[in-house]
Amino acid sequence: MSDAVRVRFAPSPTGHLHVGGARTALFNWLFARHHGGAFILRIEDTDRSRSTEENEQAILEALRWLELDWDEGPPTPGYRQTERLELYCARAAQLVAAGRAYYCDCPPEQLEAERKAAEARKETFRYSGRCRDRGLTAGALRLRIPEDGSTIVHDLIHGPVVFEHRQLDDWILVRSDGTPTYNFCVVVDDVDMRISHVIRGNDHLSNTPKQVLCYEALDFPVPQFAHVSMILGPDRSRLSKRHGATSVQAFRDEGILPEAMVNYLVRLGWSHGDQEIFTRRELIERFDIKDVAASGAVFDRTKLEWLSHEYLKATDGARLAAMAVPFIERAGLPVLPDRARLAAMLETLRERARTLVELVEAGRFYFERPRGYEPKAAEKYLTADGARRLELLVRRLETLEPFTAEAIEGAVRELTAQLSLKLVDLAQLARLAVTGRTASPPIFQVLALLGREEALERLRAARLAAAR
Ligand code: GLU
Repeated sequence: MSDAVRVRFAPSPTGHLHVGGARTALFNWLFARHHGGAFILRIEDTDRSRSTEENEQAILEALRWLELDWDEGPPTPGYRQTERLELYCARAAQLVAAGRAYYCDCPPEQLEAERKAAEARKETFRYSGRCRDRGLTAGALRLRIPEDGSTIVHDLIHGPVVFEHRQLDDWILVRSDGTPTYNFCVVVDDVDMRISHVIRGNDHLSNTPKQVLCYEALDFPVPQFAHVSMILGPDRSRLSKRHGATSVQAFRDEGILPEAMVNYLVRLGWSHGDQEIFTRRELIERFDIKDVAASGAVFDRTKLEWLSHEYLKATDGARLAAMAVPFIERAGLPVLPDRARLAAMLETLRERARTLVELVEAGRFYFERPRGYEPKAAEKYLTADGARRLELLVRRLETLEPFTAEAIEGAVRELTAQLSLKLVDLAQLARLAVTGRTASPPIFQVLALLGREEALERLRAARLAAAR
């Protein structure tokens, strides 16, 4: 594994994995795999009040579902920020010893009053630097920022972004209670984990000059940065819950296929000509962070569903069966113990669904008998004539050998000819009888997959309903 590329995904476990976070993880993962580098997972849980174990597990599970495997990270100890406090203390001491950081004992009320005054003047609050040269040995630890000049962040997506030092202030590295701040932990971790490229959301761009100055103070090389634009809702505001489902888990629960989710996410901001569908291998080969667009990308649910449909169509029955079982259970339907038959059933449905939820819904009739018949069709087909035809069909199918789709079709064709009917008349009648609906996968296949016993039960039940 090359050491030249080491990237990380650093979620805060304060909620589930948002699609924006998932896309950041994916871009990092692809970048690492493309360059033969390492993908590291770090849990940024310093915000103790909002971080939970449950959220952390949900994030890991979502990453596994997307098959974004990490080379370093949990459950190996040491990849959670709360496990790394000693390291932050050591780096803080280094900065103090080098004169790059200083203690400040300004009372919070005073700072708050200054902040309010700045706001009243419509200015951004900047710490005055009052404690810079007081030589204090306790209090909050602040980074000494050069007063003049500027820091240029050379962003791989946005190009050079200039931040005037006048706009920054001596930010706090460690609070007076000894807890390190978020920006400081990120820098220390990225140094310690030898991160070469920081690929993250655009919302962190404004933190970057502060962090760059901290790397310099620590005398460490600055990594390369790439800030990925935000994902937007249809109204072009930042995608949030009010736009509907935004967590990866919610899409998984809706039955979107993971490969569709990956393919969808990668195209939010990245493109390769006008190709829409990519295999994992193609993505790894073609992905380059430099091709990621600087502008925001609008989340388009219809396209995600279209992709999911495309992937469903291409998925074989065995995998469909494995994926569909939890959805069958959740729909309160029985799971067939015969997996091969279940697989064959699901294969007949995959053209008809965009998600696994829809797949199961489209195939409900395989798992339970019809609870009723579509009224209009019942009026047309479940008549006295219909009852007679069903009776003949039952008799014919009782002894048919073998009970295959082909043989069933042959038998129905013969019967059609005998009765001087059209094939569609008997086929629709049988369809209504076994599925309760007028649309289903090819009916002879459905009958064969249900099996003789079940198919006959349903045909007999419909005959009774017709005779009434
Ligand atoms: N923990 C931060 C977040 O979840 C990411 C910070 C970073 O990537 O530098 O937004």
